[in-house]
Amino acid sequence: MSDYDLIVIGGGEAGISAALRATRLGARVLIVNREAELGGGCVRTGTLPSKILGNAAHFLENLKKGKRYGVPVVENARADYKTILDSRHKTTMCELGVLTTLLRKNAIATLTGMGSFKSPREIEVRLPDGTMRLLEAPKTIIATGSRPMALPGLPFDGQVVLSADELTAMDVVPARLIIVGAGVIGCELAFIFRSLGSEVVIVEKAERALLGLDHDVAALITRELKKRGIRLVLKTGLERVERTTGAPARAVLEGVETIECDRIIVGIGRLPNTDGLGLAAAGITPGPRGEIQVDDRMQTPVAAIYAAGDVLARFMLSSMAVVEARVAAENAMGLDVKMDYSCAPWGIYTDPEVGSVGVTEEWARAGGGDLVIGECGYNDLVRSCLDAHVTGFFKLIFDGATHKLIGAHVAGPDATEIIHFAALAIKMGARVEDIRDMVYNHPTVSEGFGKAAADALNKLEQRTSS
Ligand SMILES: Cc1cc2nc3c(=O)[nH]c(=O)nc-3n(C[C@H](O)[C@H](O)[C@H](O)COP(=O)(O)OP(=O)(O)OC[C@H]3O[C@@H](n4cnc5c(N)ncnc54)[C@H](O)[C@@H]3O)c2cc1C
Repeated sequence: MSDYDLIVIGGGEAGISAALRATRLGARVLIVNREAELGGGCVRTGTLPSKILGNAAHFLENLKKGKRYGVPVVENARADYKTILDSRHKTTMCELGVLTTLLRKNAIATLTGMGSFKSPREIEVRLPDGTMRLLEAPKTIIATGSRPMALPGLPFDGQVVLSADELTAMDVVPARLIIVGAGVIGCELAFIFRSLGSEVVIVEKAERALLGLDHDVAALITRELKKRGIRLVLKTGLERVERTTGAPARAVLEGVETIECDRIIVGIGRLPNTDGLGLAAAGITPGPRGEIQVDDRMQTPVAAIYAAGDVLARFMLSSMAVVEARVAAENAMGLDVKMDYSCAPWGIYTDPEVGSVGVTEEWARAGGGDLVIGECGYNDLVRSCLDAHVTGFFKLIFDGATHKLIGAHVAGPDATEIIHFAALAIKMGARVEDIRDMVYNHPTVSEGFGKAAADALNKLEQRTSS
């Protein structure tokens, strides 16, 4: 009999969540993680660190608004990057402490090393001292996460060309920053570093920023980038970087333009960590991007092996990783649970921030459905006027026949918080009448949901009266 019922490979957000859930269901669990510190990208390099930088950026932006209340505005206030990094370090240590306590309380064993399959039920771990240890368990969950993708011919060098995981490699805010990729992470970092004082240029191959997001959201964020003096160069790639010791780097864009810069952050996407996992020995064939392919129970074609998180190369968000991990753990422990992405919200931490759930307008129209769209601007809300944050909108997409909410996109202050209301409304099958007839606290930003629903209902009534 093996010592464990379940081995989880990877101790990031997905791995820890899977281990906790399986333990609650009675399993003896071991987490194998490459680094001695658990937490993965969420705690150590991605989600939390970027939010600390975001907090500093918001603080600086709010300082500019003091004039309204007679507070003298500090011109050109700057934040000290090293102090921000210290604050990030403290938050990371605090979160790691919380994780360690959780694992100890739940008697979850951990082992530092690189795990790879020897067979579907055997995992060999290369320990930090180079020795190997063979482990066996009836079930395994792969939660090995992802790594940043580099541009062809332009590897990350830890100095000038950095990934979004290496924001701590800088010791000062770069005076001139190029961000390659106008996706969710590229746009988030652009707003942050602009507020911290960088001149920012975003270089994007596609014809618009934030591909895949609702077009009205992308248009608003593009306008805000411009208003903040962030240059967005579309339909262009970064061809090469020229470097001379002691001089700024020169980024040569496709075409003729060359831009001098101090740092380049490449945010063009991520690749799943499956190299060296011994997938062939497990009987698993990865997908075209190297991702682990699973069904809606998070089970691979090999019955004993499940997977969750970034290694699936689906949404690559901590929020999704946690739920995928719960589903994987429950099924590995004998339950029968399906993953449901239909009401999973997205939070995008631009300025203003964005919360989205369900279908986009483009997607719904491509499906040929009968839609009714209700809208409300932040400038229609008393709360926003009080707070002097009037940029943004609510866009609610209803099915014209059933009146049910099928998509919601909010761009504006608190959007990532309040979008959960719409997510629950979709999950519970709420109709436009339900959302309009709610009583909303006044004055609040959430009143935008009621006003957008009222707008949709007006449009529906106009249809029946004409
Ligand atoms: C800048 C940035 C900002 C982000 N902001 C957000 C946000 O605001 N909200 C959000 O929801 N998401 C955000 N994300 C995404 C989020 O960080 C990831 O989706 C999340 O960390 C994925 O968790 P995971 O457990 O799947 O993988 P990871 O966090 O990558 O963890 C995988 C773990 O497995 C280990 N490992 C890998 N291979 C092996 C092996 N063979 N053996 C043993 N161990 C192994 C790794 O060392 C790591 O500890 C952001 C990402 C970035 C880069």
